Amino acid sequence: ETPKAAHPINRQKRAQAIAASRPAVEIENLKKSYDGRIVLDGLDLTVRLGEVVALLGPSGSGKSTLLRCINRLEPWDSGTIRVTGRQLGVDEYGRALSPRSIANARAAVGVGMVFQNFNLFAHMTARENIAGPLRWVQRVSAKEAGRQADELLERVGLAHRADALPRHMSGGQQQRVAIARALAPNPAVLLLDEPTSALDPELVNEVLEVIRRLAVEDGLTMLISTHQISFAKDVADRAIFLADGSIVEEGPAQEMLTRPGNPRTRQFLQVMK
Ligand code: ADP
Ligand code: MG
Repeated sequence: ETPKAAHPINRQKRAQAIAASRPAVEIENLKKSYDGRIVLDGLDLTVRLGEVVALLGPSGSGKSTLLRCINRLEPWDSGTIRVTGRQLGVDEYGRALSPRSIANARAAVGVGMVFQNFNLFAHMTARENIAGPLRWVQRVSAKEAGRQADELLERVGLAHRADALPRHMSGGQQQRVAIARALAPNPAVLLLDEPTSALDPELVNEVLEVIRRLAVEDGLTMLISTHQISFAKDVADRAIFLADGSIVEEGPAQEMLTRPGNPRTRQFLQVMK
C-alpha cells in the first residue's frame, strides 16, 4: 500500500521556524582528501533544526564523503563537525573513540543515515532489522524493541511486511525499512545518500513520499543528496550545489533550482532535466 499523500507545504512558515531554530549540524572548515587528492576543501555548512537541505552536485563532487563524515563513518583531515552542539567520535579530551563508542555516540548525538543500497541485514526480517540495533546499541528490551519496530514499520506503510526478509521485498520497500531503521533511535538529523538512485523508476515515488512526510509532518531535520531535482524543489528548504570540494552555490531550493545564478549549477541542472 502506498503511504497517504502529504500536506501541502507552507514555505513562509517553515522558513520562519527554521530561521529561529538552533543549529542541528555545524561544519567548520572541513577538509578531506583521499591519497592526497582533495575532496572537501574547507567546507562550511550549518543546517538548522527542522531544515531540509538538498545536496546536489556532479558524481564525484563529494556528496557521499560529506554525509559519511557527518556520521563519522569517514575520518577527515581537519575542521570540526558538531551535531546538536556535540562533536561525534571524540571524547571530551579530543581523543578518538572506539567504533563501539562511536556507535553509541551516533545514537546519543542523534544522527541516522540511509544509504543508496539500503544496507539491510539480509538474513533478518524487516522487524528484526529495526529491533536488532535498538537492542544491541540502545539496550532496549526485546519486547519494547519489537513494539517500536512495528510502530516504525506502520509509519512507513509497511506494517504488513514486518516478517518479510529483504530479498522478498521490493527495492522501494527495502529502502522504507532502512528509513524506519534509521529513525528508530529518534535521531535529531537524518542523512540520506541518494536514497532513490538504486531504485527502479516506478518505486521512486513511494520512498520520496515517505521522506516528504518526515519533512512536512514530523519536521525532521534532513540532509539529502539527490539527483531528483523536482523532489528537491518540492521538499527541500535549501539547496546546496557542491563542486570541486566546496559549495559553489546555495539558496532557497525553489528559487535556486528554478533560477540558478552560478553557471556550473545552471549547466548541471540542464543536464539533469
Ligand atoms: P559523490 O557522492 O558526490 O559522487 P564521493 O563523495 O563518493 O562523491 O567521492 C568524492 C571523490 O572522492 C571521488 O573522486 C571519489 O572517487 C573519491 N573517493 C570516495 N571514496 C573514496 C575512497 N574510499 N578512497 C579513495 N577515493 C575515494
Ligand atoms: Mg555518492
